Amino acid sequence: MNIILFGPPGAGKGTQAAKLVEERGMVQLSTGDMLRAAISAGTELGLKAKEIIDRGDLVSDDIMVGMINDRMSQDDCKAGVILDGFPRTVAQAEALDAMFAEKNITLAHVIEIKVDENALFARIENRASETGGERSDDNADVLAKRLKVYHENTAPVLPYYEAKGHLKTVDGMKSIDDVSHEIAQILTS
Ligand code: AMP
Repeated sequence: MNIILFGPPGAGKGTQAAKLVEERGMVQLSTGDMLRAAISAGTELGLKAKEIIDRGDLVSDDIMVGMINDRMSQDDCKAGVILDGFPRTVAQAEALDAMFAEKNITLAHVIEIKVDENALFARIENRASETGGERSDDNADVLAKRLKVYHENTAPVLPYYEAKGHLKTVDGMKSIDDVSHEIAQILTS
């Protein structure tokens, strides 16, 4: 089963994806994690991506689509994936549709984790202190920019999937376990 976890930064996509990996053995494809791995490895892409991530902008659609296409071609993805952080633009969503059609696979659900954005600043601050400031984009200034980018570029992906009948919404203000219960209900529906 292929699903997309969707929501603004700090909504809990990564947390919920990790639970699905642990509990159901699903494969998580986090584009943010892939970019951070490229940064740690010091690749040319990593160097370019770091600048973009640190100012809260989006990496280009071409790069991101290529990255997902390569990863989706690997054998472990054949049983289905959780896309976490992708697609982030309508162009990426369209490219994903084309990719799925070409690979002859289907998208089961797009699960929007809906949150009160005022709570995100506290959540990101919390994540920064829990991880010892591991992510250079986890601070109030960059979060404000990431939210602006989310509204301008990423939120339009929601009506795109709504029109296709794929969109489901869960209440991301509930506890981690309650959100994961809501997601489980969608996956068994
Ligand atoms: P995340 O870990 O999902 O919050 O992603 C961290 C950062 O990586 C984002 O703020 C973007 O700069 C970049 N990024 C991750 N996924 C994408 C994507 N699908 N398209 C463009 N940029 C992305």
